Amino acid sequence: MAALEKRSGLEWQELDKEHYLHPFTDYKELHEKKSRIITRADGVYIYDADGRKILDGMSGLWCVNAGYGRDELVDAAADQMRELPYYNSFFQCAHPPSIELARILQEVTPPHMNRVFFTGSGSESNDTIVRMVRRYWDLMDQPERHTIISRVNAYHGSTVAAASLGGMKSMHKQGGLPIPGIVHVDQPYWFDSDKSVSPDEFGLLAARSLEDKINELGANKVAAFIAEPIQGAGGVIMPPDTYWPEVQRICDEYGVLLISDEVITGFGRLGEWFGADYFGTHPDFMPFAKGVTSGYLPLGGVMISDRVAETLIDKGGEFHHGYTYSGHPASCAVAIANIKILQDEKLIERVKSDIGPYLQAGWKKLAEHPLVGEARMVGLMGALEIVADKNSLERFEEKQGVGTICRDFLVDNGLVMRAVGDTIVTAPPFVLSHEEADELVAIAWKCLDLTQAALQ
Ligand SMILES: *Cc1c(COP(=O)(O)O)cnc(C)c1O
Repeated sequence: MAALEKRSGLEWQELDKEHYLHPFTDYKELHEKKSRIITRADGVYIYDADGRKILDGMSGLWCVNAGYGRDELVDAAADQMRELPYYNSFFQCAHPPSIELARILQEVTPPHMNRVFFTGSGSESNDTIVRMVRRYWDLMDQPERHTIISRVNAYHGSTVAAASLGGMKSMHKQGGLPIPGIVHVDQPYWFDSDKSVSPDEFGLLAARSLEDKINELGANKVAAFIAEPIQGAGGVIMPPDTYWPEVQRICDEYGVLLISDEVITGFGRLGEWFGADYFGTHPDFMPFAKGVTSGYLPLGGVMISDRVAETLIDKGGEFHHGYTYSGHPASCAVAIANIKILQDEKLIERVKSDIGPYLQAGWKKLAEHPLVGEARMVGLMGALEIVADKNSLERFEEKQGVGTICRDFLVDNGLVMRAVGDTIVTAPPFVLSHEEADELVAIAWKCLDLTQAALQ
């Protein structure tokens, strides 16, 4: 604590307003409301400067999967920092924590993935992939395979390339995105469709929008397809069962590399190690970040299939790409300790067959609320669709901001969940107890009531 001044919540808020531009923030709006200062956390709870205890139904930003207050992770970082706080992996150097983590990652990822490229974040991982994919096709003597296909409403990060891969219109509007060579096809969001076909039919149609785009561009121009197994920031969008098998078929048929963005779904969120395991896909790239360290230190990376890695190694010469913090020793030490927690405490099995099903049962009951059109959850990743009419599933008008109204009630009542339009999403830590799951569902129901009352 030594380095930090003691200040009141109000003082922090004032300083924050004067000097700190936050990510994804409307600064004027924030300055009118003042920011919430989070000072400490333990287990699944965060505490603000006023001492209020809040259940963290978002695991920070989908990352604190092992929960807060983990001395094993703190000690791993401190021990590593005393031994070797930093060294790079440029210039033919390496250090034990990054090598050991690479070995462990190879064990927990699918058998055809045996090599990793380390980065500092999910965005950097996806930037790395854009360069690696194009490098791969150059080396395969197919340099015209240049275009990467993504999906509308995808989230792949916020750097120039990652935001281009993403399909968020609001992001593309700022800064002249997407960069050339990136195009977007449909998302498998049945609830948002006109619902004129069944979910299974809809899943096939969404997958075939990829096939149509490949045919339109010419398969010999298409390098890769990138997608989140379940879209996170877009609103926890679960594709119908038909979607992923059809996408895999299309990628195989046209020789298009598949990128499974595992930044949220990796390291157990769905009750399997990776989303690719859950959906049975076999990607060439798996970018990861967030849950690899449970967010205790920043770390990202890309798992790479043998066929791509061996091409880069055998034919590539120098790959002109890398980051100062690629394979940062303290971050890697924390990741090793975090993976050990997942294994020793069987937390992924817990998501699959204990707390996952338990919270899902409570969550699905929320579908009985008059404001809820759908309640869905896989593993510990869920969403509620707020609707104006439960029978027609018609939504409220966007300008009413009903999702935001509900989100504000939630936070005021001691539960952090996020609003994506009128979709309320949750992704609690894997260590959530049954009592805490009950608390989460009870607060959610209460705040749906409060939202309904506020609308009258
Ligand atoms: C958060 C996220 C990213 C970006 O990760 P950062 O560490 O914020 O750069 C990329 N892809 C997905 C699916 C994400 O959820």
